[in-house]
Amino acid sequence: AIIRRKDYAPFPWRVPEIRLDFDLGLETTRVEATLSVEPNPDAQAADEIRLDGDGLVLESVSVDGERREDWRREGEDLIVPLTSGKHTLAIVTRIAPSQNTQLMGLYASGGMLCTQCEAEGFRRITFFPDRPDVLSVYTVRMTGSRKTFPVLLSNGNPVDEGALEDDRHFVEWHDPWPKPSYLFALVAGDLVARTDSFTTMSGRKVELGVWVRAEDLPRTGHAMESLKRSMTWDEETFGREYDLDRFNIVAVGDFNMGAMENKGLNIFNTKYVLADEDTVTDDDFDAVEGVIGHEYFHNWSGNRVTCRDWFQLSLKEGFTVLRDQLFSQDLHGHAIKRIGDVRVLRSVQFPEDSGPFAHPIRPDSYKEISNFYTATVYNKGAEVIRMMRGLAGEAAFRKGSDLYFERHDGEAATCEDFVRAMEDGAGLDLKQFRRWYEQAGTPQVTVEQGHEGEEVTLTLRQSVPATPGQPDKAPMPIPLRIALFDPASGTHSGEELIVLNEAEQSFTFDGHAAPPILSINRGFTAPVAIERDISRDDLMFLAAHDDDAFARHEAMQELLLGYLLGDGGDDARDAIGTAAGAILADDSLDHEMRAELLTLPPFAYLAERSETYDPGAMVEKREGLRTWLGETFASDFVRLHDELAGPSRERGISGKQARRMRSLALAYVAAADPEAGAARAAAQYRAASGMTERQGALSVLAGLDGPEREEALSDFYDRFEGNALVIDKWFTLQAIALRPKVLEEIERLADHEAFTMSNPNRVRALYAAMAGNPLAFHDESGAGYRMIADLILELNLKNPQLAARFVPSLGRFRRVEPKRSALMKAELERISQAPTLSRDVAEQVSASLG
Ligand code: ZN
Repeated sequence: AIIRRKDYAPFPWRVPEIRLDFDLGLETTRVEATLSVEPNPDAQAADEIRLDGDGLVLESVSVDGERREDWRREGEDLIVPLTSGKHTLAIVTRIAPSQNTQLMGLYASGGMLCTQCEAEGFRRITFFPDRPDVLSVYTVRMTGSRKTFPVLLSNGNPVDEGALEDDRHFVEWHDPWPKPSYLFALVAGDLVARTDSFTTMSGRKVELGVWVRAEDLPRTGHAMESLKRSMTWDEETFGREYDLDRFNIVAVGDFNMGAMENKGLNIFNTKYVLADEDTVTDDDFDAVEGVIGHEYFHNWSGNRVTCRDWFQLSLKEGFTVLRDQLFSQDLHGHAIKRIGDVRVLRSVQFPEDSGPFAHPIRPDSYKEISNFYTATVYNKGAEVIRMMRGLAGEAAFRKGSDLYFERHDGEAATCEDFVRAMEDGAGLDLKQFRRWYEQAGTPQVTVEQGHEGEEVTLTLRQSVPATPGQPDKAPMPIPLRIALFDPASGTHSGEELIVLNEAEQSFTFDGHAAPPILSINRGFTAPVAIERDISRDDLMFLAAHDDDAFARHEAMQELLLGYLLGDGGDDARDAIGTAAGAILADDSLDHEMRAELLTLPPFAYLAERSETYDPGAMVEKREGLRTWLGETFASDFVRLHDELAGPSRERGISGKQARRMRSLALAYVAAADPEAGAARAAAQYRAASGMTERQGALSVLAGLDGPEREEALSDFYDRFEGNALVIDKWFTLQAIALRPKVLEEIERLADHEAFTMSNPNRVRALYAAMAGNPLAFHDESGAGYRMIADLILELNLKNPQLAARFVPSLGRFRRVEPKRSALMKAELERISQAPTLSRDVAEQVSASLG
């Protein structure tokens, strides 16, 4: 069935309170749910209540204390006749957590029990109106074996606990804040906590806990520090304060996504909690901090103000991604973070927006909501709110967000509510801006520049491409921060924000004796693709001199794209060489920015920018360029690799910058001279002071041949055997290697004793990595496509959410050269013929086939 946004209707009943009584067991868990229900005055009256369920064994239903048999089932739904007025509805169900391979609802992971309820997992625990606009106060009592489940956690504050017969015990939690069912959580298991406390701006003392298996405790310090930084930042930047006496984070080894913002009890993938210098990289440290921030910030943008329905998902996710991006920018510097965020947007969201699954940040319909936890809803959603912030300015934006939180606290709100709060609070007129919520597709902006006398004219045109179901698009407001550089002095007289509202619009600027060099979309103020006529010389100028670090990086990327996507002449390559030489010689740059400037565009973005993508040819060209740059600047890269050996061992920002540049230098050395590269990489590996250096060396070695490679890979495995997150890296580094025989190696890795289909991190470590490797996925034989299709079919019913995530890589067949395209499409068709497809996979595959 297709669910449509326009069909929204409020639920006929309110459920102000729910009590959940769990008798916990890994094999069987008994759930007694007691709901207080009353007619919803804002909805049409009903004479029955319809509750969602999924895979539940129903034991009994009673209303107002009396056992009832007049209920009925429609599919998975439970319908109970109910007269008007207040009632108490008690339902007993049984579930089997160990059998729950979907990892939605209550499931077992490494001997513990945990939950994932967003979006529709609560219905796999008990019958309930499992929709975000039904808010209830939860009281949760958990009973279980003290031995198996010494720790029993749920949302809110603990209110009771005690010992029972047979070495059993119970704990009761109460969450005073009304919440939708998707924010419910419980955890039961043998866990230990790193504890700390935080005093909020109004003086509330909050007990903090990061709960993990005992052996992981030493790796929780960074998570705790990140949590405290998040709490401080949200008070200072958005005026948001925490609202319970407890805040707990639990790390779980088997988790479909990154993490989940359950009220007062965030549940995390271990990948985004555990960190220390020996086992994770600098980037991993930052990812942990970013995700801890993200989930914590949801306490306001998501929990205190939640979503009316799942079409509004970007209301909480877009806003919260923006909040976590700003948090990381404030802590670590704006430019690098912005460059990284835009790289992700372009290599994941742009392809989504130009592909068969393109959808607006506020979708109009879905079959399976899990499929809409996308880069569009999350990352483009963040860009859309960032544009509002850019238009309003920081101070006005804050007024808008204050108004939003004040107006809608305790409510299930809509994207429209957010936009209206921004209009009223920030003083913006967002009438036309609303199209950003309605229209899918990445706007294409072309820029023409004229010069007459002292006047410069910029003529901008926009077009939003047709997307499935949306053939015609209207112009959107596109805010572009620009600067006009005087070529003689190399400076500009200030930035300006121009807003392109029309399909075509001209902007004039006075006082330019000579034609200026245009720097546009500085800081990436709008999530659009810019096509401009600019000479190579001007790009080289900007790559060397633009005072906006993002724009400078962008100019370098444009030079690289010009060569990699164009006919690849020597002139284009020489221009890159000149620019790279200037970057290597520029002492004003820190090593991290230097490395960013010398980083080649990712394959996913190159594919996105190609009319028809020929993966084999692109690998040759891109890696050929790496070799040429490595040869041209051999002595610089060797020097950097030597010089930065010492600084790379330092802690703090300068160490991080040095490590980044040093590993990039190593990759260039190896591209130019594999033997010398292998020797240096092996030395870097052996002397590595932490995982950043070790992984940097191993990733270079993994792409080479020879004894150093095998030695390092087996050392790495032996050294970290048993540490799941590090063994994930071992799989990934081999799966992303650009080697001709990589596909055979991936087949062997799939048979490795440490590989399992039951752990999502391990599956992604091998197969998501493989799907991003053009030499593996796009192997001419079609064997890579077959491998991914087989994977999808194998996971289809076992873990539909995870399975569906692999479909879009095949779904891009229209943009790939004809031979491979046909092979990709054939695999999609094979999947579509499977006897039973999960809703997740079915929706993705049918969208892909169009
Ligand atoms: Zn989120």
